Amino acid sequence: MVDEIKYDKFGDVVRNNRGIFGDALEEHDKVEARPMPDGVHVEFQCEGCGSSTRVVIEWPEIIAMRYMVNPIYAFRGRPDIVQSPMSWTYNVTEQAWMPEARCQHKCNFFYGIRVLPQEPARWLEAARRGGFAYPHEEAISKGCAALAQQAAQRPR
Ligand SMILES: [Zn+2]
Repeated sequence: MVDEIKYDKFGDVVRNNRGIFGDALEEHDKVEARPMPDGVHVEFQCEGCGSSTRVVIEWPEIIAMRYMVNPIYAFRGRPDIVQSPMSWTYNVTEQAWMPEARCQHKCNFFYGIRVLPQEPARWLEAARRGGFAYPHEEAISKGCAALAQQAAQRPR
């Protein structure tokens, strides 16, 4: 998912920003989500086995969700964009994006991470405030906006 060296690079800058990660992620006990150069790191303890866990939601995935485009669809055939893609679905009942993320320590517990539609824009803004921005944000935003527009125009 992510190498450990990268992990702390901007830690001091963004460590105290977690207050902005309201909504779905904060409903989990002891969850920490912070913007890092490769994406948003979500850290918590597995409710199944208690292991400390980190899930990285990469910036391209976050950009796609901002446009309400499924990252799987947005980057199909482009393995160069997302390092460790997760399988995302938009859960209509929860009104949130949910990745197929399970405990890889020992218990296979389904984490139930939820990303509300308004969160991606906040996270991108937090990265900018933290002094870094995903370098390809503009290009990926353009592509995702085009996909979103196509989807809106498609007859239902
Ligand atoms: Zn577990």
